[in-house]
Amino acid sequence: MIDIQALFRSRLFTCNITTFPVFELHGDAMIRTITAVTAALLLSAAARAASFEARVLPPPAQLGKDAARFVAVPAGTIALAHVRVIDGTDAAPQEDRTLIIDGGKIAAIQSSSAPLPRGARVLDLKGHSVLPGLVGMHDHLFYIARPDLTAKGTFDAPLMVPEMAFSAVRLYLAGGVTTLRTTGSVEPYSDLNLKQQIDDGRLPGPHLDVTGPYLEGKNDLFIQMHQLTGPADARRMVDYWAAQGVTSFKGYMHITRDELAAAIAEVHKLGLKITAHLCAVTYSEAAELGIDDLEHGFFVNTEYDPGKRTDQCTPGDGAATVAKMTAGSEQAKNLIALLVAHHVAITSTLPVMEVTPNGRPALPPRLRAVMAPESAADYDRLRALSAAAPGDQRAAHYAAFRNGMALEREFVAAGGQLLAGPDPTGAGNVVPGFSDQREIELLVEAGFTPLQAIKIGTLNGATYEGLDNRIGSIAPGKDADLIVVKGDPSRRIADIENVDYVFKDGTGYDPKKLIASVAHDYGRY
Ligand SMILES: [Zn+2]
Repeated sequence: MIDIQALFRSRLFTCNITTFPVFELHGDAMIRTITAVTAALLLSAAARAASFEARVLPPPAQLGKDAARFVAVPAGTIALAHVRVIDGTDAAPQEDRTLIIDGGKIAAIQSSSAPLPRGARVLDLKGHSVLPGLVGMHDHLFYIARPDLTAKGTFDAPLMVPEMAFSAVRLYLAGGVTTLRTTGSVEPYSDLNLKQQIDDGRLPGPHLDVTGPYLEGKNDLFIQMHQLTGPADARRMVDYWAAQGVTSFKGYMHITRDELAAAIAEVHKLGLKITAHLCAVTYSEAAELGIDDLEHGFFVNTEYDPGKRTDQCTPGDGAATVAKMTAGSEQAKNLIALLVAHHVAITSTLPVMEVTPNGRPALPPRLRAVMAPESAADYDRLRALSAAAPGDQRAAHYAAFRNGMALEREFVAAGGQLLAGPDPTGAGNVVPGFSDQREIELLVEAGFTPLQAIKIGTLNGATYEGLDNRIGSIAPGKDADLIVVKGDPSRRIADIENVDYVFKDGTGYDPKKLIASVAHDYGRY
């Protein structure tokens, strides 16, 4: 039996943050050598970036019947007329514009009285806004299952995350996610084949940056994960899965510093990026090792967890640290300065962390409608449990959640690169697409303006991926990966839920049809 009741610990540990060395260069010869080496590195980096781009954003294919049946507006010359343009750069919205799509690209953003291209299909979108397609940075293709979950919150081992190859990609696309990183795989061949079939036009779905299988250390938490036997094993796994076609990697909770260091070096050698959901390794340690990104905001840093031992996970996985490391504190400032100096991005995953003063939020009807009844029932059990927790415990959880939000804002204010993704696991109320929208709403609740939150959910992800020349914002020449919503999310962020069309490579999909096709399937397949 596994008990999901998380334990909060209170004892505060301090730790030293190592200062990083500054190198000084002397002499012309040394500078010449360094210039030559830098040029060579830049060239190969550019070549690698090009192949990553070709892999994640291949040219659009002819759609087969299984994808074509969800299309509302076939690709061609399309005019989105009288629309509000929210371009994803945090710039003020442009009112009453006409956005011209030509094939897979954005051709122009013009005055709504300017002449339209001959033969354009015109959609009158008065009262609507167009946004860049979301770039989901913690968007798994699996769900979480707790066999025989009881009302007490206990369930039978093993904990599993069943693959949602059918429903997840449809829900992501319907929710406006046009590109995503899977951020850890439990069925890597399924994910890679799914990506291929989407890219071939055989199945509907977003552009996928497929992450390799979790680089996890020794543990028995998830039965589907390989357990690394050391640094050499980490290198082997990275090489093998990169050769199979995965385009990113992720370290997991029990990975050690040596294994993570080996994985980072190997991933970087291949010109790819690596993130992690940490526990045994602290955020500071991972930053010093050269990691590119850290998952779950500041919620899983174990640095000040009581009893933290080197290379050992803690039972609370950072719960005590986020409760104690308040925004504005010396510890928070030091950590954030270290992350910014090392160019480590942070992925905000607020929906999976979300708690309210009364426990976890109720399941919105639109989520319940796509969830398998047994998955929804499991969530209801877990929610009842958190609502019945003692008042002081609920207050502490909520305070920690609010502090995690405040730390994300402090990170951005200090120049940090914040990414967004919902993480469809946790208590089971995080559902692809819908919860990508929820993530952006929660960023606004955290204190970002709606335009800042939209940028975090679009352009920031594209920039981290090195794909901002193609996606993440609205400008002529960029890919026509766009969301059309009714209303004005720059004023009322909840309008981001009112998706009428999702354009991917200039083809307009019908979100309602996609959602209807997975009614009561999420949690099953
Ligand atoms: Zn996750």
